[in-house]
Amino acid sequence: MIVRETTNGIFEREIGRVTTDDLPPGDVLVRVNYSSLNYKDALSCTGNRGVTRKYPHTPGIDAAGIVTESGNENFKPGDKVIVTSYDLGMNTWGGFSQYIRVPAGWVVPLPEGLTLRESMVYGTAGFTAGLSVYRLIEHGKIRPGDGTILVTGAMGGVGSHAVAILNRAGYHVTAVTGIMNDPDKEFDPDQEYLKKLGAADVVPREKVDDTTGKAILRPQWAGVIDTVGGNVLSTAVKQTAYGGAVTSCGNAGGQDLNLTVFPFILRGVALLGIDSADCPMEHRVAIWKRLAAEWKDAGLDSRASDCSLEELGGFVDVILKGRLKGRKVVNLSL
Ligand code: NDP
Repeated sequence: MIVRETTNGIFEREIGRVTTDDLPPGDVLVRVNYSSLNYKDALSCTGNRGVTRKYPHTPGIDAAGIVTESGNENFKPGDKVIVTSYDLGMNTWGGFSQYIRVPAGWVVPLPEGLTLRESMVYGTAGFTAGLSVYRLIEHGKIRPGDGTILVTGAMGGVGSHAVAILNRAGYHVTAVTGIMNDPDKEFDPDQEYLKKLGAADVVPREKVDDTTGKAILRPQWAGVIDTVGGNVLSTAVKQTAYGGAVTSCGNAGGQDLNLTVFPFILRGVALLGIDSADCPMEHRVAIWKRLAAEWKDAGLDSRASDCSLEELGGFVDVILKGRLKGRKVVNLSL
């Protein structure tokens, strides 16, 4: 997929043909079997300069495939690999293509227990959910049995994977979603999807969108995985119980954080930032291994549907409207 800016500033997508010589320099050439669609990809597809500065460009922050050429001793032709994060798909040509060429330092060997397609059902969204759970467990010291974990933006890519991973890891999960009030009848508003993923309870967004202005609220959560930011995140911090932790990875609901210090100095609440793009390789590999083993659930494969490169453009518009249910895997052999 090539995104171009026309002379009148409009961004157009087309499926075109280039050669591997046109790809950026790098140690490892990968034949891409699968990619996946993330919100950031949709921004790159539509000319968002905060994500991609220079066009023409091939988006796709996720890719999984087979090494075909390698100038690095850690990888050889035939190796199955995952490439997500760093600069892939942002200002480096990305996974919406049959080939990528990248530095060896961006490449993760596909862990045992995961297929290439499953790795892209997770993609950056699943990896970010895994990183959030990892931070909550390792740094926040929240254990199953400590109480309920709240997941916000639960219908989204990161949120839905977080619900499933936490359930698999033995936690009691409450999912918060705005979907319950969605007037769009075409978008299934029932709670069954989140319950099937492993949420013990599903609550409407208003429950975690406090407008009283109070500095601290009744404690309800042992931990929180927040994917939306804004007032939902500040409410969740105020509702977190003594010694609890809150991870913050996204801003779908706003980038401001209106808080006092009281949740921190009266309850010892920890706020943990999540950045998947530059997560060190040592943690990255550890998280992918858990996603392939103890955090992997039987429903993983069915949490995404496939689309071809040609069909992908339509789903870009769907995710931008916040209407994508489940994950979309881009199957390069379709
Ligand atoms: P999605 O678009 O798939 O999901 C976002 C979800 O947020 C929606 O499904 C919706 O959930 C909820 N939401 C949307 N609008 C609002 C709103 N106005 N107020 C409150 N909630 C809202 O995105 P992803 O799950 O892929 O990503 C989530 C966030 O994490 C994004 O901001 C993304 O940029 C960020 N991100 C950050 C990463 C990092 O490394 N820090 C990596 C990957 C993503 P519901 O319908 O259930 O309410």
